Amino acid sequence: MSDAKRELLEITRAAHAWVAWHEECGSDGLPAGDPPPARAARDDARTQGARGPREEPRTPRAEPERPAFAPPNRREAAPPPEPRKAPAARAGAPALPIPSTPFEGAAPASAERRTRLGVLAEQVAPCTKCELAKARTQTVFSRGNPDAELMFVGEGPGADEDAQGEPFVGKAGQLLDKMIVGMGYARDDVYIANIVKCRPPGNRTPEPLEMATCLPYLTEQIELVRPKVIVALGATALRGLLGPGEGITKVRGTWKLYRGTIPVMPTFHPAYVLRTPTPEVKGMVWSDLKQVLKQLGRSVPSRKD
Ligand code: SF4
Repeated sequence: MSDAKRELLEITRAAHAWVAWHEECGSDGLPAGDPPPARAARDDARTQGARGPREEPRTPRAEPERPAFAPPNRREAAPPPEPRKAPAARAGAPALPIPSTPFEGAAPASAERRTRLGVLAEQVAPCTKCELAKARTQTVFSRGNPDAELMFVGEGPGADEDAQGEPFVGKAGQLLDKMIVGMGYARDDVYIANIVKCRPPGNRTPEPLEMATCLPYLTEQIELVRPKVIVALGATALRGLLGPGEGITKVRGTWKLYRGTIPVMPTFHPAYVLRTPTPEVKGMVWSDLKQVLKQLGRSVPSRKD
């Protein structure tokens, strides 16, 4: 055999070995000249050849799993986008002290409830635990019936409430009174309290630290009154009762649970209704209150705007 023929034979053997190795690895890096039938025929021929038949048919190579963010064809794809980062928590925002366990023991009897609420109100009156104490005229504890089946929770006192020492006595309070009467209750049949007991300056929203500091008072009020239903008036009341979550616009009209026990109906704050007195907004609030009445087993009076 001439040197040239020997060299050609070496090159051919090397080429065969290279192709066999790539196919063994399942590589797609082979020249793309063979249409599938030709490749299958060639494989058949080889399995009958020197390497002998395969004991097991080759299982098709599994497609690599695509990550959710990957477009259909990776080869044409731009680099995958950065995963979205969760919004950073507000620096220094404390976790709200919202109990998650059901109430222990039975609700106190009416006389004991009234006594303990009186004691609590006396504790709250001189409270200076948070910054809101500085600008207030007085603390605003509650109003209404401590034996009530229905409790309304608002955000905090405004100027009128700060001056008079009672929650919901300003324009928003007058609208709330109309809502209560519209539901078939007398004004003082229900119990009303706020997330914070002191007026935030300029009627701003209470800061998370102020809410967290004041919330134990409301927790005790709810524990003593033990209403059958709570209506959360607005976003701050909802956050104070149930913790951070979806906004009031999204969850209003849907039942939530306080401590896994008391049904909570989120609805718009009367101040919002005064600012946006459209039939739609009024209709949504009335629809929420009708659900409350049904929950309490009371008949639904026809609506009077
Ligand atoms: S808002 Fe609450 S915690 Fe803050 S000073 Fe008033 S009563 Fe005390």
